[in-house]
Amino acid sequence: VQKLEVDVAIIGSGTAGLYALSEVKRSGKTWVLIQGGPVGTTCARVGCMPSKLLLKTADLYAERAHFAAQGINGADGLSIDPVQVMTHLRSMRDQFVSGVTSKTTDRMDEDHFVRGFAKFTSTNSLKVNDLEVSFKKAIIATGSTPIVPASWSEIKGIYTTDNLFEINSLPKSLAVVGLGAIGLEIGQAMSQLGVLVVGFDQANTLASLQDESLKASAIEYFNNLFPIHLGESVELEQAQDGSVSVKNSQGVQRFDAVLLSLGRRSNIGSMDIENAGVELTNGYANFDPESMQIADTNIYLSGDVTGDRAVMHEAADEGLIAGYNASVDVLEQKAFKRKTPLGIVFTEPNIARVGDLTMDDSVVSVSQPIVNGRAKVKKQSTGGIVLHADARTGKLRGAELVSTEAEHMAHLLAWAIEQNSTVADLQKMPVYHPVLEEALMSAIEALGRKLEPQLSTAEHKLHRAI
Ligand SMILES: Cc1cc2nc3c(=O)[nH]c(=O)nc-3n(C[C@H](O)[C@H](O)[C@H](O)COP(=O)(O)OP(=O)(O)OC[C@H]3O[C@@H](n4cnc5c(N)ncnc54)[C@H](O)[C@@H]3O)c2cc1C
Repeated sequence: VQKLEVDVAIIGSGTAGLYALSEVKRSGKTWVLIQGGPVGTTCARVGCMPSKLLLKTADLYAERAHFAAQGINGADGLSIDPVQVMTHLRSMRDQFVSGVTSKTTDRMDEDHFVRGFAKFTSTNSLKVNDLEVSFKKAIIATGSTPIVPASWSEIKGIYTTDNLFEINSLPKSLAVVGLGAIGLEIGQAMSQLGVLVVGFDQANTLASLQDESLKASAIEYFNNLFPIHLGESVELEQAQDGSVSVKNSQGVQRFDAVLLSLGRRSNIGSMDIENAGVELTNGYANFDPESMQIADTNIYLSGDVTGDRAVMHEAADEGLIAGYNASVDVLEQKAFKRKTPLGIVFTEPNIARVGDLTMDDSVVSVSQPIVNGRAKVKKQSTGGIVLHADARTGKLRGAELVSTEAEHMAHLLAWAIEQNSTVADLQKMPVYHPVLEEALMSAIEALGRKLEPQLSTAEHKLHRAI
């Protein structure tokens, strides 16, 4: 049995673990980084980046629908080489992965980077294969795993994003079960690439949209791209011909492949965490999101493993917080303010959520369709912008968007909320023409008129010169 003694053990070399390590290293504490699965982070390997690569290829190909009307001939002659689509995706993906590993884990020696799955043996020790690691503090950054119901795990033809990007060629037909961000992105991309896609979700919305008008326009738009069945769960079975049959109240359909995008479960459940004195509630540990500490223990969480804010930039922030606090004495620990929530689905049109979307009597809202010259030029006027402000303070609180280029507008809104901007402040910001931000400004102005109906347009839109 080998033994290792460190100040800080970081478990998981994904985004959260690597950001945590940067803070621990800076402090001069001794450390070890332990990694169970493949290196290179979920984001670069099987998450953010390969999904965006697939969407880009699909979007390029879908553009051909507009060629002939604009005098570009030959669109009929374009076709998809399904093997090359996936080969290109993987080659770009590999560049992103080596971009991460070449600067991090590839450079670490065996005393600092240990391969294997860690399990806790006490409050100050863990085991990785034959290695016993004793630590003063530990950071759990072990991520999450796609949910696959046990009764479906033996069915051939079922994929999750963990293995979908490894397929050699595109399937002829694909059922996407679960239409959150991941299912909707892959569903749109695959259907634009010529795969016969059908989407299913037991919820009555897409990508968690809350606003009724946005929900309706998104459902109508995506249902025109590929059939979507909402509000009902499905049953999956292996069909005799080797395909997968998907059953709902409307009947049974067979598919070459099924993508399960039902959500992800925290990996904390398989680490014997109870040996470290931590009890899980419904598979999650109770932690303070501003210090990332689990109750009064010497253990910190960061990233998807928390079950909260499962996006890359939050995993990075949480890594920094956990890394900082695991590197100082308990009395010197700091609470860090968390950022305005921001979520983007990279379908075309994008779907974005910003800030606080809880509704009560103190909220004033507007809902505006995308009426915008630049959106028309792009042939994508689907959707709308919904904004929420606090009636008393006039501060912007939250937003939901379904729009082309919503990814950029969502950032403007998130930065505005982060800076405590009021709707009155935002109305006075410059906007160029012709840009999508004109649609955003028109929604901000509508909200401004609701909050301060007595003001003239000049007073709304311009500061007075002193
Ligand atoms: C298809 C898809 C698309 C996505 N798109 C986006 C996007 O566009 N934008 C965005 O912000 N986010 C996106 N995400 C989410 C984002 O990828 C995650 O939030 C982020 O990668 C989480 O990082 P992490 O460090 O928590 O986990 P990971 O990167 O998963 O790292 C955890 C590591 O810990 C290892 N591990 C697990 N158990 C153990 C153990 N016991 N011992 C040692 N090691 C262990 C795992 O093998 C893993 O490598 C997407 C996710 C998916 C799946």
